[in-house]
Amino acid sequence: MSYSFEPIGLVHSCFAEKFAIPRQPQLAPAARGVLELFPPYDKPEAVAGLEGVSHLWLLFVFHAAASGEQHLRVRPPRLGGNQRIGVFASRSTHRPNPIGQSVVRLDGIEDGRLLLSGIDLLDGTPILDIKPYVPYADALSDASNTLAEAAPAQLVVDWSEPALQQARAQALRLQQPVIELIEQCLAQDPKPAYQRPDTNREYGVRFWDINVRWHYPQADRIRVVAVEQ
Ligand code: SAM
Repeated sequence: MSYSFEPIGLVHSCFAEKFAIPRQPQLAPAARGVLELFPPYDKPEAVAGLEGVSHLWLLFVFHAAASGEQHLRVRPPRLGGNQRIGVFASRSTHRPNPIGQSVVRLDGIEDGRLLLSGIDLLDGTPILDIKPYVPYADALSDASNTLAEAAPAQLVVDWSEPALQQARAQALRLQQPVIELIEQCLAQDPKPAYQRPDTNREYGVRFWDINVRWHYPQADRIRVVAVEQ
């Protein structure tokens, strides 16, 4: 048995690379993107009724995940990268079929485009389907997961004065919440959990078209040192 699917759209996202994308949606509410719908789904009929919906389930393709040998067990970064669990107990991008799912906020509906926030999607992610979040069925008060009971602890993020000024200028230019995006994403600690930060080393990532650089003055603290186009 095999099935093939065509994307119904793709996401233009603030995340230009995989590094520093939060490991789940909603961890960075300032992470914005636009879902461009492909014909014939770009017509108003296809989204009629979504005005009354606050959040969407997106089913998407991990198009930038390395393909190759299939493993039954994976090492989620969340568990420090050295504990193996079954692939079906994880949200790893390395799965039998490279399909992801995320609950995102629907901020607006424009001609053939859905405005989103709280995303964890790389720029260019192909979308297979969209479904409305249904609170009475999807928010389960008795749910538990001992491997991921609560959101990961956050690091403190502070700024050098020049970097903060650069970030303000970029926020004005892009008309995006650049400062919040950087703080929320870096607070998740993008580097692998098993890696002790070298206090002298600088790390970097691209959000939108800007390069963000930071270092770790202490293991649990990040200082942003540059935000440049
Ligand atoms: N919420 C989704 C899920 O549970 O299926 C994704 C979880 S996965 C652990 C999140 C990571 O997927 C992000 O940190 C990012 O590095 C990666 N990612 C996001 N979009 C991707 C894409 N299009 N291709 C490959 N990896 C992607």
